[in-house]
Parts: sequence; C-alpha cells; structure tokens
Amino acid sequence: MILVTGGTGYIGSHTVAELLGAGREVVILDNLCNSRADVVERITAITGEQPQFAQGDIRDAALLDHLFARHKFEAVIHFAGLKAVGESVEKPLEYYDNNVHGSMTLFGAMQRHAVKRLVFSSSATVYGDPATLPLREDAPLHATNPYGRTKLMIEQMLEDIARADPAWRIATLRYFNPIGAHASGRIGEAPNGTPNNLLPYIAQVAAGKLKQLSIFGDDYPTPDGTGIRDYIHVVDLALGHLKALNHLAAHSGLHVYNLGTGQGYSVLEILRAFERASGKTIPFQIVPRRPGDIASCYADASKAARELGWQAQCGLGEMCGDAWRWQCNDGFIRY
Ligand code: NAD
Ligand code: UDP
Repeated sequence: MILVTGGTGYIGSHTVAELLGAGREVVILDNLCNSRADVVERITAITGEQPQFAQGDIRDAALLDHLFARHKFEAVIHFAGLKAVGESVEKPLEYYDNNVHGSMTLFGAMQRHAVKRLVFSSSATVYGDPATLPLREDAPLHATNPYGRTKLMIEQMLEDIARADPAWRIATLRYFNPIGAHASGRIGEAPNGTPNNLLPYIAQVAAGKLKQLSIFGDDYPTPDGTGIRDYIHVVDLALGHLKALNHLAAHSGLHVYNLGTGQGYSVLEILRAFERASGKTIPFQIVPRRPGDIASCYADASKAARELGWQAQCGLGEMCGDAWRWQCNDGFIRY
C-alpha cells in the first residue's frame, strides 16, 4: 500500500494511475485545495482499479496518525504542496506553512509509524539561474523565490533525516517542466483562473478561450531569443516515480534525480509544435521579460537513466497532442 499525498493533483493523479496499472494499492490524501474529488472516479475509469481517497491536510497530525494506524504503508509519495511562484512571492507564509510545515508534519508521522520510504516532488527551480547546462544533480543550488526556497528547505530537511537515521530511504526527484495529459483525455492539468505556465496558456489560446499568447522576451541569449525549457510528458514523469520506488526497495540512503528529457525547446518551438498538434493558429505578441525568468534550463538526465533505468519516451508532438485532447475534452474547466 502506497500513500500518495496530493494524489488528485496534476502529477499525482497520473502517478496514481500508473501505480494502480502496475498492481500497487494506493491511498490518496488530498485537501482538494487545487484539485477535485471526481479525479478519483476518473482514475478508476482509466485503470479499472479504485484508489482509496482521504480528504484532508498533510498538516493535520491527528489525521495522519489515524491513516498510518489504519493502513500498513510501504512508502509515501509526497506531491502535496502549493506551486505557484508568483503567489509564493505575495503570500510567503502560506507557502512555508503548507510546504515546509506540511512536509515536517508528514515526515514526523512517517517517523512515528516507522514508514521510512519516501519519494519527494522537488523541482528544477532549486538550481536557480544555472551556471552551466545541462544541469547535473551536483550543480549548485540557489532558489530565487519563496516557492523554490520551500523546496530547497524540504530537500535539506530530508538530507538531515537520512543522515540521522540510516533506516530512511528517500528519492528526491527534481522535475523539469511537466506538460501534456493522460492519453485517455480524462485527467490533466486544471489551472485555477488564467494559467501562469506556458502550455496551459497556449492550449487555451488554441481553444479560443484566451486571445493571444504573450511571449515573455525575445532577447534572451538563445537561438531565437525566447526562453528554453526541458518539457517532459507528465506520464513519463509519473513512471519515474515507479522506478524510484523500485530503486528504494533495493537501496538505502538518499538519492537525488533530475527527471527531464535532456532536450530544451524554446517558447517559439513549443508554439509551433502546438500549432501542428492542434491544427490551430496561435496568435502571439512579444512582451518584456517576466521578472525572475531565466534564459535556459534543461536537465542532464543520465543519472536517472543509469541508476533507475528510467528515460523519458514521449516526444514534443505527443506532449502537445495529449494536452490538446485534454483541452478539447474538458480540460481546464473550473468547477
Ligand atoms: P497540483 O496543485 O496539481 O497538485 C498538488 C495537490 O496537492 C493538489 O491536489 C492539492 O489539492 C494538494 N494539496 C496542496 N496542499 C495540500 C495540503 N496541505 N494537504 C493536502 N493536500 C494538499 O500540482 P502538481 O503540478 O501536480 O505538483 C505536484 C508536486 O510537484 C508539487 O509539490 C509541486 O511543487 C511539484 N512540482 C510541480 C511542477 C509543475 O510544473 N507542475 C514542477 C516541479 C515540481
Ligand atoms: N512563457 C511565456 N508566456 C507565458 C508563459 C510562459 O512566454 O504566458 C515562457 C516563460 O518566460 C519561460 C517558458 O515560457 O521561458 C516556460 O514558462 P513556465 O512558466 O511554463 O515554466 P518555468 O518558467 O517555471 O520554467
């Protein structure tokens, strides 16, 4: 039995679907602050297996004690958290409370109930503005906003926990830019209000819900002047969690992995790929750079390939095609 916090969210729901498909049993804990309960039925429809669902908060120690007493968890995959960079600048305390205090409360419950196997959702944002590319896991860490600092603090907390007690087995996964949706079109990313991230924004422009894309700067030191990121299909990312769990079954200690494709694409390349996948023209305008943005960021994903036997499989066309199917089905309708 695996406990998945944040399991009705974007990455969590895809991971739960893959876990169930691989014959694992799952309990989801989610407070639904950024997702909705019917994701559980959608996962069941996709996989034919039903995950258990507990609505609640990772900061609720009594609820955690109840869950850990009731189920014999083999491991925890910890997705729950807040993730909007801009919002974290405006409401830092909410981010430290939800992400850092929430994670501390969860790890405390794990310790009390002797469940010491953990896969944690970190982010490439912990690298800050990279000095060299591609990014290896041993690159210097430097978060540039409160969201990133919460991820860095949790990573550091986990290092201390692993150092203090060798019974802990921890995989810290640093995600690059997850995009796309399940091929069924039943689960995907459902941002609240106007999207901040590139792909959901483009998808809504293609669907006619937003007028045009604003490209944040075309004067970066990149071949076409627009920002470069390492976009990874969310199902590839989900599969990385299963590989990490398998790895922890055989290896002790703390392990850090980049989960990316190793391939960077510019904003304009993404726009063109989405136009091809959707058959729509996506109007855009160039506007000034977004404060805090970096020029380029892409992974050296060779450590995950070597140690986990994991490599991203989906190309950009598939990522955009799946995002478009989700958009056309019911994606991004806020309830
Ligand atoms: P998401 O918002 O779709 O999912 C997070 C889920 O956690 C939501 O369902 C939300 O309701 C739940 N949640 C939040 N706070 C909670 C709390 N205190 N108690 C219980 N549930 C809570 O986000 P996502 O994109 O699926 O991201 C999952 C994780 O991956 C997050 O930790 C995020 O920081 C990390 N991450 C995401 C990205 C990305 O681009 N999506 C990139 C790097 C890292
Ligand atoms: N971007 C853009 N317009 C948007 C949203 C994003 O030009 O409306 C650019 C952004 O400047 C960056 C890339 O798209 O170069 C990816 O941005 P996103 O916010 O999706 O991811 P992150 O910047 O967090 O890696």
